[in-house]
Amino acid sequence: MSDIAAFLLARYEADARIARKTLHEVALRREGYGGWESVDFNSPQAADHGQRWKPERVLRDIEAKRKLLEVHHMERAGGYEDCWVCKTPYEYEAESYPCDTLRILAEVYDQHADYLEEWRL
Ligand SMILES: [Zn+2]
Repeated sequence: MSDIAAFLLARYEADARIARKTLHEVALRREGYGGWESVDFNSPQAADHGQRWKPERVLRDIEAKRKLLEVHHMERAGGYEDCWVCKTPYEYEAESYPCDTLRILAEVYDQHADYLEEWRL
């Protein structure tokens, strides 16, 4: 099983890089064109989507997902790899790593070349 946490962190960093770049471009535009609100969207739905997914919101979303990755980290014990949080104490058949939480997070990126089908639920 390849490292799903490393895969997700790489995707999050790529998303964050784009969000930070957009923030920078918006800051430049604010000097002369009015900022993010001046972006010309083609439809009211697209404008609503754009308002909900401003770069600041994207970065907060990515930070929350990184925290989820920290919580659902791998624990090696007795020759098994389990999720530290999803494993039930005293349960002989603990959930193997990666847990369903990480698999669900990874499905967002299932079109990426590094996504492994074995991660799909
Ligand atoms: Zn877990």
